[in-house]
Amino acid sequence: MKYISTRGGCAPQNFEHVLLTGLAPDGGLFVPENLPKLSTREIEEMRSLDYPDLAIKIISPFINGEIPDSDLREIVRESYNGFGNSEIAPLRKLSNTEYLLELYHGPTLAFKDFALQVLGRLLNYVLEKKNKQVVILGATSGDTGSAALEGCRHSERVDIFILHPHNRVSEVQRKQMTTVCGDNVFNLAVEGNFDDCQRIVKAAFADQSFLMDDKQLVAVNSINWVRILLQIVYYFYAALKLGSPRQKISFSVPTGNFGDIYAGYLAKLMGLPIDRLVVATNKNDILHRFISKNEYSVTALNKTYSPSMDILVSSNFERYLFDLFGRNSEALCEFMANFGKEPLSVEEEQWAQVKSCFDSASVDDAKTCRVIREIFDKNGILVDPHTAVGIQSARDCAEKSTAPMVTLATAHPAKFSEAIRAVGLDEPELPHHLSDLLSREERYSIVPNELAAVASFIKAHS
Ligand SMILES: *Cc1c(COP(=O)(O)O)cnc(C)c1O
Repeated sequence: MKYISTRGGCAPQNFEHVLLTGLAPDGGLFVPENLPKLSTREIEEMRSLDYPDLAIKIISPFINGEIPDSDLREIVRESYNGFGNSEIAPLRKLSNTEYLLELYHGPTLAFKDFALQVLGRLLNYVLEKKNKQVVILGATSGDTGSAALEGCRHSERVDIFILHPHNRVSEVQRKQMTTVCGDNVFNLAVEGNFDDCQRIVKAAFADQSFLMDDKQLVAVNSINWVRILLQIVYYFYAALKLGSPRQKISFSVPTGNFGDIYAGYLAKLMGLPIDRLVVATNKNDILHRFISKNEYSVTALNKTYSPSMDILVSSNFERYLFDLFGRNSEALCEFMANFGKEPLSVEEEQWAQVKSCFDSASVDDAKTCRVIREIFDKNGILVDPHTAVGIQSARDCAEKSTAPMVTLATAHPAKFSEAIRAVGLDEPELPHHLSDLLSREERYSIVPNELAAVASFIKAHS
């Protein structure tokens, strides 16, 4: 299997290349040239597999034999060893039709661990083989940073630079990043918002001439295809638990960069009987406006209780638009060039195609708090604000699907105590391995909101 760029300007690439880069050289995102299609029987046969074996089964066709099976097995099994729940992604029942898929049992307590634990090990494996050093550069709205540091810091083959928006991540999120030790770890607090961080990272990838000794940048954001790939797995895992392939399942996904839900869309294309995919957004609702009104336009950024979704422009949406435009790169380039200048829409037929797969909702902070309270009172479960946005969105869209609805519980509530306090509930305790987090020593640098400042920092420290 080869990978092509959404912008159509570069030759097809192999898996290793896609793993070791970020943006394609033409500024596009890599996507598989074609997807493996699984038959009902093949999906049925996956029912007996545990999580790591299911992951290996699903990702293997995408790796194309570039990593020997036995090595891949070891990498994947080791990646999920450190999870605090033996089921890795346990499913909890909320009501007869509603479920939660708990994706926060990894070392940094958010779903980002599912991909970044594997990505870090794959990187190290390939870099050892090639005898290469690279610079990892990532932007985080809070959770990618710590998961990337945790997944990659043990590799002597990488220097890691993580940009987060200064004063716009939660205290636990910040400390999870800034207390990671290591000569190869650098946290930069950018005086701007997450979109500024993301813009700087994209610009750095587009022109890497500031790097020394022909090093290259590697992405840990979901512009890196491998992030998406590993997230396809838990859609299968949850659906199989609930009776797929015979049973259809719907999912509600708290969405920021459209990475997680894009993985669900791919699972559907691969043959998993997914009924509806609900795009759950907070007040930053560009995707909800697009899906419900065919209007794609930026507005001002709102700061919310679910900061990991405080994003104006979802980078992975380009991957979906590429499919929506019939994989026509020219049409995609034109659409992207006009974005930001005027509100955009797609043709009626295309919009109908969007709505045949996706529903959407936007949930404000007041509703988010109400749901946290309600789930706590009724079910005795404390959900984090991102998950609460997912649950409420699922309910808002409930009449569109009769299939069981699984909301992805994307983070542990202890990461977002501000919202929990606002609801008037006791702050949840951090799991044992993080119990002294708040008293650990922090290390980070504040930098101006500009590429030049970030580039010179990286040059001086890599
Ligand atoms: C990253 C994140 C999201 C958004 O995921 P995307 O793949 O960017 O859409 C939602 N919830 C939490 C807790 C996150 O960390």
